[in-house]
Amino acid sequence: MTAPLIDPFARAITYLRVSVTDRCDFRCVYCMSEHMEFLPKKELLTLEELDRLCSAFVEMGVEKLRITGGEPLVRRGILTFFKAMSRHLDSGALKELTLTTNGSQLGKYAAELAACGVRRVNVSLDTLDAEKFARITRWGRLPQVLDGIAAAKAAGLKVKINVVALKGVNEDELFRLTEWCAAEGHDLTFIEVMPMGDLGNEDRLDQYWPLSDLRAALATRYRLTELSDRTGGPARYVRLEETGQRIGFITPLTHNFCESCNRVRLTCTGELYMCLGQEDRADLRAPLRGSDENGDLRTAIRAAITRKPKGHDFDYSRQQVSGQMSRHMSHTGG
Ligand code: SAM
Ligand code: SF4
Repeated sequence: MTAPLIDPFARAITYLRVSVTDRCDFRCVYCMSEHMEFLPKKELLTLEELDRLCSAFVEMGVEKLRITGGEPLVRRGILTFFKAMSRHLDSGALKELTLTTNGSQLGKYAAELAACGVRRVNVSLDTLDAEKFARITRWGRLPQVLDGIAAAKAAGLKVKINVVALKGVNEDELFRLTEWCAAEGHDLTFIEVMPMGDLGNEDRLDQYWPLSDLRAALATRYRLTELSDRTGGPARYVRLEETGQRIGFITPLTHNFCESCNRVRLTCTGELYMCLGQEDRADLRAPLRGSDENGDLRTAIRAAITRKPKGHDFDYSRQQVSGQMSRHMSHTGG
């Protein structure tokens, strides 16, 4: 174990999110355009390279690894990668191996993921209405995702449902989604839509449903108790007294979480983003491919961490999207 990764604001970097592919079997309106062009395969890190990179981070103190994308479960051979990472769980160096998925492949993989030591899974699901689901995801089919979620539950995985709050789209399903999660025993987190991807076709500001409004709507039916749970991320939690459920709110557009940020993001091409809301990034593919030893790679990782910014610049407050990022969420991983 080498010295831990500490950024200039004394934050320990213990959480790595890894996008293993930019591809996806869905085309969610807020995430991708309908005719996405994906990266040529040779640009992608191989699974062996991803293993080397993630393992280097684990040696430098990363304790939590979240696999994302694109849709991580459409990457060919991805279970081999999960199996490889499970050795760090076995050694105790890694405390958690987890993933964020659209759920479409969970029916196929949930049991194997559980066998690799995955204990929790985040599944994105914005609606329980099949027709609306098809409209939001363009290519997705709700029954397949619901079957995937059921398979995850049956395999013993704790499921957290992530709902992107979309004004005029799933506003009317707030209670239905909440009650369904309570009945199924799933955690639930609402996410504010972020100004990512191409705003040419879709105006994110029109879809912006502030979570303060969503929360106020919840409070008309439930008693909400503020919880002090902190994950180092942008989520804040409440408990609904009537159901006992924990509900999370991810408000990336407020600055209330940057000071405790413990994470960095690796893209499938080996770029390290030190902040989701900033363009600055470090290329780790060159030092990775440049040598079979990890010395240069470790130096590049440490140099990147010294550039981790204090926070991001998203802002909807002036009724125009500023601080907007041109890259897609599927590139950096959500
Ligand atoms: N395909 C997987 C999935 O959908 O869960 C993993 C990758 S996806 C990019 C990760 C998360 O980002 C999803 O929960 C998705 O809803 C969220 N997301 C994508 N675009 C977003 C946006 N513009 N604003 C807020 N969340 C977004
Ligand atoms: Fe695919 Fe996830 Fe983006 Fe939807 S949010 S298009 S499922 S990567």
